[in-house]
Formats: sequence, C-alpha cells, structure tokens
Amino acid sequence: MKKSIAIIGGGASALFASIILSKRNFDVVIFEKNAKVGKKLAATGNGKCNITNQDLSLNHYFSANPSFVKYPIETFGFKEFSKFCETIGLSLISNENGKTYPASLQASSVVDVLYNEALFLGVTFHLNSFIDELKFQEKIEITTDNKIFKFDKVIVATGSIAMEKLGSSGSGYEIAKKAGHTIIEPIASLVQLTSPNEDIYQLNGVKTDSSVTLFINNKSTKTITGDLLFTNYGVSGNTILDLSRDANMALENSFGVDILVDLFPKLDKNKLVSILDNKAKALKGKGVEFLLLSFVNTKLIPFIFKKAKIAQHKLKINDLDKKDLLNIAYTLKSIKININGSKGFQYGEVVAGGVCVDEIFNKTMESKKQKGLYFCGEVLDVDGACGGYNLHWAWASAFVLASNMQ
Ligand SMILES: Cc1cc2nc3c(=O)[nH]c(=O)nc-3n(C[C@H](O)[C@H](O)[C@H](O)COP(=O)(O)OP(=O)(O)OC[C@H]3O[C@@H](n4cnc5c(N)ncnc54)[C@H](O)[C@@H]3O)c2cc1C
Repeated sequence: MKKSIAIIGGGASALFASIILSKRNFDVVIFEKNAKVGKKLAATGNGKCNITNQDLSLNHYFSANPSFVKYPIETFGFKEFSKFCETIGLSLISNENGKTYPASLQASSVVDVLYNEALFLGVTFHLNSFIDELKFQEKIEITTDNKIFKFDKVIVATGSIAMEKLGSSGSGYEIAKKAGHTIIEPIASLVQLTSPNEDIYQLNGVKTDSSVTLFINNKSTKTITGDLLFTNYGVSGNTILDLSRDANMALENSFGVDILVDLFPKLDKNKLVSILDNKAKALKGKGVEFLLLSFVNTKLIPFIFKKAKIAQHKLKINDLDKKDLLNIAYTLKSIKININGSKGFQYGEVVAGGVCVDEIFNKTMESKKQKGLYFCGEVLDVDGACGGYNLHWAWASAFVLASNMQ
C-alpha cells in the first residue's frame, strides 16, 4: 500500500516536495486555497524568478537557530538543484553575480514546469481548498468541502504572512500552534523602509548605485552596496531590502535607526574633492548647478546643495570656495536618513520568524511535537537575503523532507 501524504499549500516548496514524493511512490494530494497553484512563485524576481544562487554560503540565511539550515542547504546545494532541474526540463541561466533564473526569464514558466511535472506524476490537486485544522487520530484527518480525507502524513507548506494577496496568510502558524509549536514572532523582511525626513520625498524615483550603511542607536552595523531607490515615503532598492530585516528588528525594540548613503562608494573623499575642483575650474562663470549636472541625477542637485549648506547667494561656481567643495563632497558621501518603519507584511517579500526550528528535525523536517506532521519552506523560522536564497530554502527544505520521508 502506498503511503498517503497531504500537502497544505500549493506554492514553491509544496510543488517541489510533491514531485520528489511521487517519484518515490508516495500518494500525494495538494490542498491549495487559491484557484491556481504557485501564485507567489509566479510573481517572484519581478516576474523573472530569481530561482537560486551559485553562492549558497550559509551567511545568507537567518533564523533564531541558524545552524538548522546547514543540513538542507549543504545537502541540496546549487549543483544538486541544477541537476534536478535538468531531470524535469527546467532550464536555468546564471548572471555574473551568480543569481540564477529560468532561461526563459519567466517566473510563470517555473510554475508551469513544476505543476505539469506534478500532474504527470499523478499528484492530486484540490484547488480553492483552505485548510485550517488537522485532526490527529490513527491517521491525520483533513476536512474540506464537507468531506473528510485521511492521510498517513501531512506537510504544512503554507508560506508566511508576506504579501497576503498572493495567498500566504499566516494560517500555517495557526496549524502549527494547535499542534503544540512555538511561533517566533514574524517581522517583515526584504521590504521598503519609511522615513519621516520629508525632504527626501522630492527625490521620488531617483535610482542610484550607492553604498548604504545601517546605523542602530548611532552605531554602524552593516553596509550594503547596490541599487538604492528614493521614494515618496522613504527608500527602496536591493540595498534597503537587504538591510530591512535588521532595521525592522531594531525598530521592534524601539532602537533608533538611520541609514547613511554614500553616492560615490568607489571614490574616496579626497578624490571626489579633486574631481569637483577640476570641474569648478573648467566651468568658471556658470551657475552652481553645472558643478553637479551629469555627475548626479538632476533631481538630487538642489537637495545636495541644501544639505551641504551652500549659501543661497552663491549662484555662480566661482562663488564656491574650498570649504564649499569639501561640504559638497562630504554630502555626496554621507546623506543621513532617519528610518521610522517599513511598508510591512503587505509589501515584504518574506518574513523573519515563523515556526520555531528547534522543534523540527532538520534532516526530515518532521515535527518533534507531533508525529506525522512536517513543515517546509517559509512557514519555518528561516529567511534569506535577496538573490534567490528564499526560493532555494523552499527547494532545499522540500528536498530533504521528501527524500528522507519513510
Ligand atoms: C513579490 C515577491 C517576490 C519574490 N521574489 C523572490 C525571488 O526572486 N527569489 C527568491 O528566492 N524569493 C523570492 N520571494 C520569496 C519566495 O517567493 C518565497 O520565499 C517562497 O515562495 C516561499 O515558498 P513556500 O512554498 O514556503 O510558500 P509560498 O510559495 O508562499 O506558497 C504557499 C502556498 O500555500 C497556500 N496556502 C496558505 N495557507 C493555506 C491554507 N491554510 N490552506 C491551503 N493553502 C494555503 C498559499 O495560497 C500559497 O499558494 C519573493 C516573494 C515575493 C512576495
């Protein structure tokens, strides 16, 4: 007799686990609350799906117990994932930074490959089926549409509470709690940050290649270089998304949070002053704005002059003295922005927190609290940096679960 497995949720980790389990001759049924599977997966990577990364070093992962991720990620790394993708006809392409995508650059094609493979292997799908309760009898009972289904094992693959409109609403936490699990308080991560400094709102839409340092209680903690987007509520871009986890944790603890933006991370201050000095000499007689025109985004020019405290009567480049040039260079390398919040769960790509991993076996993903109950993907207290790490967690946790299930 084949063992029967129910998977609650039809997202990334569920589809992946269902394929491996079916290949291993388990009888798999997926219950998905949406009318379609993989709605979030289809929205990943701005529709391109940053599916994994060639560099899966463990420092890209976070959890209250970071050692939990070691076994799944090291067992099912980039090489193993790529090989597996070949077996199901999922073609991959990597860029120079190691970020990896489907060759089609189409997230929906990843959903199509996984869903069709699962169907081909005989996985049964119950769509529009929201599950909020499990009954642990001799078998595990699931009731939906007034029908009772009985399974040998149940996998909770419901995702987190990030971007509820795509399906995950935190219901997995409730199922886990009812089975005796602890939930590490979820906090939005990979999310845009808000600022009370209204003077930056006028920079809405300006995208820069900057280095951004996070300050917590005036202490520098982490610097990330990459794109930074100014918005009419605060800041966004990959640098901000990657700093948002620490920023939100600090805000939760009522710590002061600021970021310091260096618009020219590749130039030291002296080099910048010398460039400005040469420009000033070449552009003598022209208006001050010509000093920065074509050097920074045009929208930034009045903002930089104001921050650098260039007196209003200094209209011409010749009016600027050495101290002014130093102030402009200093401002270009250190714009301080206060952070007072984030756009929250509705906009966050993932959450930090979830089912406490101390209560899960990391070789099988089985609950230590309830036999026959398993978890994989983002419902667990594991999250990753930008760059394909969260989807890789979905694949790796599903892989060890499905490969080791007895
Ligand atoms: C906009 C956006 C872009 C992203 N881009 C990337 C990226 O490029 N690279 C990357 O690595 N990560 C990215 N992520 C994160 C990544 O999508 C998630 O980490 C990943 O999808 C988690 O997989 P999962 O299987 O745990 O959950 P999900 O993929 O969220 O799937 C959970 C499924 O369970 C269903 N469900 C929930 N509760 C129930 C219930 N009670 N009953 C039945 N069904 C239920 C949901 O409808 C959903 O379909 C992005 C996230 C977002 C929001």
